[in-house]
Amino acid sequence: MYIHEYQAKTILYKFGLPIPKGFVVKTKNNIESKLKNFKHMPLVVKAQAYTGGRGKCGGVLIAKTVSDARKKIESMLGMKIVNAQTGSEGKTTWAVYVEQAISIKKEFYLSIIIDRAIAKPTIIFSAAGGINIEELAKKDMGQIIKIPIDITTGPMDFQIRQIIFGAKLNMACFKELKHIIIGIYNAFITNDASQIEINPLALDMQNNLVILDAKMTFDDNALYRQPNITKLYSAKDSIPSEVEAAKNDLSFIKMDGNIGCVVNGAGLAMATMDIIMQHGGSLANFLDIGGTANVESISKAIKIVLDNHKVKTILINIFAGIVKADMVADSIISTIPTLKTKPNIIIRLLGTNSEYAKQKLQEANINVFFTSNIEEAVQKAVANAKQTG
Ligand code: ADP
Ligand code: MG
Repeated sequence: MYIHEYQAKTILYKFGLPIPKGFVVKTKNNIESKLKNFKHMPLVVKAQAYTGGRGKCGGVLIAKTVSDARKKIESMLGMKIVNAQTGSEGKTTWAVYVEQAISIKKEFYLSIIIDRAIAKPTIIFSAAGGINIEELAKKDMGQIIKIPIDITTGPMDFQIRQIIFGAKLNMACFKELKHIIIGIYNAFITNDASQIEINPLALDMQNNLVILDAKMTFDDNALYRQPNITKLYSAKDSIPSEVEAAKNDLSFIKMDGNIGCVVNGAGLAMATMDIIMQHGGSLANFLDIGGTANVESISKAIKIVLDNHKVKTILINIFAGIVKADMVADSIISTIPTLKTKPNIIIRLLGTNSEYAKQKLQEANINVFFTSNIEEAVQKAVANAKQTG
């Protein structure tokens, strides 16, 4: 789950971090009076859309007067940001954040993520901040400092020095940088974040370090114990079928192809995707119905997959263990008459009660292709998808 910059800054402020003064605007009402009460000119007007790269496409603008700021805020509210990060559909600006403008001497990059290879929170720092770090990583890894953190100690003084020496900073900033790194680390751990990215961390003309941009994402699996973070969730901008799937405890990710998949178990779902691709097919989605699937949730899963107009072929690949094959068959049999379209349905069912399931599907006299062989199922699905386009 991700949140807006202004929400991330509110969280980081509570951890004692240096955040410029600012306020958020969500509607066009009273903008002028809010600006008059805000005594920090010039200011920066920042689009709150779920994307980065706003600076390069009109989503971060400087304003020198109240009327200039008001015009910029008004034109930014509701604006679409379209860049490499958003894809062609773009992301909507749901709010505008107004913040005091800082005179910047230098911009740094600071983030914290979990490095899965070593299973540790890892701080990433670069003196080449403000720009796209992925581009920099491709060109010059030497400019990126990675510091793995031992969770029993948190960031240590020698690691702050490693950053200072590595990024050729002045030792005079030790105390301030330590304060920022420990604050970011504590915010990361306390909130079950999966990433906090500060780009840029700016050095201002008074040689103070200031957090100018903040992106925070959270571990979805920990949201159950983070009610204050969960409250910030907004389904705006999310893919509707993914939101619907999440409500039904289905792991669903929409993709660009035309073969819909309904599978149980993430491993089998991935293997099914691999086999489909090996046979030249393209996938419309990833979907794991999970071990707690029942007649209703499988029916919902089929409908969510078919909600995509590209899908005319659907492959249901279930290995019945915890989930019983005859229950899957019951769900399919009761769902088919309720579908708005008539897709090609290919079913591969194996495991507990699969013979009984096969018998039920045959007796129901519905138009499905049934097999216990995965190769056959996939070949059929790919051939059908090629025919129907
Ligand atoms: P994004 O990463 O989406 O482009 P940022 O918040 O990083 O958005 O803003 C882009 C650039 O705008 C920053 O690199 C910085 O140079 C400038 N900027 C952002 N906020 C401020 C601010 N409060 N004062 C001065 N400059 C700012
Ligand atoms: Mg940025």
